[in-house]
Parts: sequence; structure tokens; C-alpha cells
Amino acid sequence: MQLVLIGPPGAGKGTIAARLAARFGLVHLSTGDLLREASAAGTPLGEKTKAYVDAGRLVPQEILGEVVAERVRGERAFVLDGYPRTVEQAEFLAALPAVGIAGALYVAVPEGEIVRRLAARVVCASCGAVGETAVENAACPKCGGTAWEPRPDDRPETVAERYAVYMQDTAPVIDYYRDRGLLVEIDGKGDREEVWARVEAAVAALAGDDDNG
Ligand code: ADP
Ligand code: ZN
Repeated sequence: MQLVLIGPPGAGKGTIAARLAARFGLVHLSTGDLLREASAAGTPLGEKTKAYVDAGRLVPQEILGEVVAERVRGERAFVLDGYPRTVEQAEFLAALPAVGIAGALYVAVPEGEIVRRLAARVVCASCGAVGETAVENAACPKCGGTAWEPRPDDRPETVAERYAVYMQDTAPVIDYYRDRGLLVEIDGKGDREEVWARVEAAVAALAGDDDNG
């Protein structure tokens, strides 16, 4: 099963995608994680993209498209977290060989709740992995590091920019998938477990359809 996850910044896509991957046996591909890791490691990709990420702007498709194509190649079952973020990216993804998106999960969260959640978010200082609070994340699950810092793009000005970009460029992707009968809307309000229960039920239903068809 191949899924994409759409939602505003702070919708909880990363947490949901990780749980979906574990529960349904999917590979979790996060463009945000990939870019943060590249920039923490100082790779050429990281150097080319860091300024965009830190400013809350979209990384150009000319840079990211190839990277996503390479990651997706040969994967039968995946959940894409953070891609597509524009209609251009959605069209690019649909045209890749062996890609057949079974559903686009849209996690809807009101703007006020987003601002509150982003303020509580931290990243691992050594590898860039995202955590929720320094207390809950004594050791980084990815690299074992214990130093946490606010995510550079979670500063209030940058959050405003990311939200504006989301409304302008990413919201049309919701209609793109709705028009193709692939949109699955999830109420993203409430705590993590409530949201997860809704996501799990929706994807279990999709997985059943996938098996039958
Ligand atoms: P969030 O989940 O908070 O929306 P992400 O971790 O998914 O944030 O992405 C962080 C940043 O990485 C984005 O603000 C953007 O700069 C860059 N990025 C991630 N995915 C894409 C994409 N599909 N297209 C362009 N830029 C992207
Ligand atoms: Zn780490």
C-alpha cells in the first residue's frame, strides 16, 4: 500500500507516519527528516537546501524531485510524509514508474492548535530528529544524542511563513486528491491517541479495499 500524508505544519504528520509504518509494514519516507539529516550532516543536498528550510520556504522541486524519485524507486509499500506539497509535486509523483497512491490522508488541524504544538517541539542537536519535549526524549531514538533544541523553523515568524506557504501551495493538493477520489480526511484535533485511532481505522479500511482490488 502506498500512502501520502498531507496537513499543515504541526499537524503531527511525522508521528502519524511513523506509527503507520510500524502498524501496516510501510517504509516511512519523510522529506522534512531527509532534508534536516542532510543539513545536519553537511552533505551537498543539505548545503543546497538549508536556507529554504530555515526560512520556512519550499525547497525547489528541481532539487527535491530527483531525491524523492530515488527513495521511492523499488518500494512497494510506503507512506510519504511531507511530499507532495504542491500540485506540481503530486503530478510528478503520479508519473513515477510503479507508483500507485492508494490514499491521501489529510490531517486537518485548526491554526490555533498548530501554533501551540509547534512551540513545544524540539529537534536532536546532533542528527535533527524531531521530538516533542526535551523531557520525553532523554535520548534521541535515532542517534542516542541527549541534546535537544528548538527546531530553527519553529520560530514564530517562520511558522507564519510556513503556514502561508501551506495555504497557498499545499492546500490545492487536497483538491488534487479529492478530484481523483483518493482523499481521506482525518480530524486532527485532540490528543495523539485520539488522532491515531482515527488514522488507524481509516487506513485499515483502505488496506481492506486494497486487498480486494
Ligand atoms: P512540517 O511537518 O512541520 O510541515 P517538514 O518537516 O515536513 O515540516 O518540512 C520542513 C521543511 O522542509 C519545509 O518547511 C520545507 O522547507 C522543506 N520541505 C519538506 N518537504 C518538502 C517538499 N515536499 N517540497 C518542498 N520543500 C519541502
Ligand atoms: Zn539524534
